[in-house]
Amino acid sequence: RQAEIVRHVMAGNNAFVLMPTGGGKSLCYQIPALARPGMGLVVSPLIALMADQVAALRQAGVRAAALNSDLPGEERRALWRDIRGGTLDLLYVAPETLLRPDVVDRLATAPLSLIAIDEAHCLSQWGHDFRPSYRQLDALVARFPDTPRMALTATADTPTRAEILTHLNIAGSDAFIAGFDRPNIRYAIQEKDNPRAQLKRFLKDHEGESGIVYCLSKRRTEETAAWLCGEGYDALAYHGGMDKAAREANQARFQHGEAIIMVATIAFGMGIDKPDVRFVAHIDLPGSIEAYYQETGRAGRDGLPADALMLYGMEDIALRTRFIEESEAPDQRKRMERQKLDSLLGLAETAGCRRQALLSYFGDQCEPCGNCDTCAEPPRLFDGTIAAQKVLSCIYRTGERFGQAYIVDVLVGAEDERIASFGHDRLSTYGIGKEHDKRTWRAILRQLIALRLVDVDLGGHGGLSIAEAGRDFLRDKAALMLRVPPAPRAARGKLQRRQASSALPEGDRALFQALREKRMEIARLQNVPPYVIFHDRTLIELAAARPASRGEMAAVAGVGEAKLTRYGPAFLAVIAEHGKGLRA
Ligand code: ZN
Repeated sequence: RQAEIVRHVMAGNNAFVLMPTGGGKSLCYQIPALARPGMGLVVSPLIALMADQVAALRQAGVRAAALNSDLPGEERRALWRDIRGGTLDLLYVAPETLLRPDVVDRLATAPLSLIAIDEAHCLSQWGHDFRPSYRQLDALVARFPDTPRMALTATADTPTRAEILTHLNIAGSDAFIAGFDRPNIRYAIQEKDNPRAQLKRFLKDHEGESGIVYCLSKRRTEETAAWLCGEGYDALAYHGGMDKAAREANQARFQHGEAIIMVATIAFGMGIDKPDVRFVAHIDLPGSIEAYYQETGRAGRDGLPADALMLYGMEDIALRTRFIEESEAPDQRKRMERQKLDSLLGLAETAGCRRQALLSYFGDQCEPCGNCDTCAEPPRLFDGTIAAQKVLSCIYRTGERFGQAYIVDVLVGAEDERIASFGHDRLSTYGIGKEHDKRTWRAILRQLIALRLVDVDLGGHGGLSIAEAGRDFLRDKAALMLRVPPAPRAARGKLQRRQASSALPEGDRALFQALREKRMEIARLQNVPPYVIFHDRTLIELAAARPASRGEMAAVAGVGEAKLTRYGPAFLAVIAEHGKGLRA
């Protein structure tokens, strides 16, 4: 797919590229930018992201630079000299900087090989990453009509794609949709039962690896980070309430370090380009499927195995619903947000393959994947018609104003002062649900919400009421299949522990570790992230192939000419040393 896109743009055409994270999107504009005459202009949303891309390109011997508002005067002048002198291959720039009149005018005097707009979904007014300055990028179309332009994104549903094409005047025939699947990410979604214990179990499989834990609130972010530190993890917090310097320091530590857990709100994210993020855990419900896809997509960019875990419960549903109801947005927008929440609940409650459900949201498809929790352990289905009738009837008889916990208590006939004080212990529905435990009733209720038979929170307090479809269901007495929740501990039973380095036989892991240490040493000296030197994938291959010469090392993926010259001797020495140790 990359070759097809590269050829298309080399020939001077525009392109819209939708390719999953880790699919090698950047290469699609980097190669034509180098091969065509002139300098490639890359619009990128974040300064930190640009800095890493530029560092990685320079390691590979490409003349790249970033122009942004943080650049000191002298460096800025030197950069413009390089641009005028035609000695730059690629220039990264933030949209706000690019759109300044003086910058556009000066760029118009230099020949441009192409204009690439990365993270193009940011121009969508309906999207969750909308950035007003991206909207103004259509000015470039008018200013550079003959320069090939590319819009690239890893996340865009059908309406967003159409919006990008129209706005940047790119023809539908120039669109390349490479699909959404991230096969190396394993998805799991569990009921939020005891989030800290669940998170701890999950992290046990990821000792020594880096990952992200997403929380909804600033407070939960800080509390969780502090708790993880107390548990012996190297955890950092990141949220919008922190001052800029502290946020940037934590981001840099995460980006440059190994075995660090970032506990963050959604403020942390766009443009995180760390390839070796091994897991993403949501301990609160994400905002939508798009947000979930994008946030989990930050794991496993290097193609090695990665894990995504989402925990969610009734409180999350009530909270999200309240956010939507209480927002100032127009009704049309609220309806759309409500639909997005329903789709997300559908994914969380599906009895089928998670990946299929996720991809179908984006109009993409796959076979049952074998790499998600429902594939590993398919939920049992049962005829839930009677159970659903009991729940609806209980909601109705208690006046359609109580929350999940109360309804479940009435169903199982719990002895409770509140129930007694309302006289609900005398209802016909009191104690009619003794055949299931509370956990199962909660799961049934969530499924009825996901199916829109039950509405949540009309008054803003998490109260449940019977939706229109719920009334139809009671009247028509349709059959309804529901899933039985797996036992809480069994959820990971059949899923094997999978670390990235587990591809290596036991005997090669010590060498892998030694190569990682050498990489860290070099990275520290240059103040760049370790993966900029070599990806884990390359180190794994080096540990397995054990090249003894530069020639042999050149055959390993990820070792180009520039890196071979700079780092070949150091890594070959580690491998030789290791071999000696083994023989001795
Ligand atoms: Zn699956």
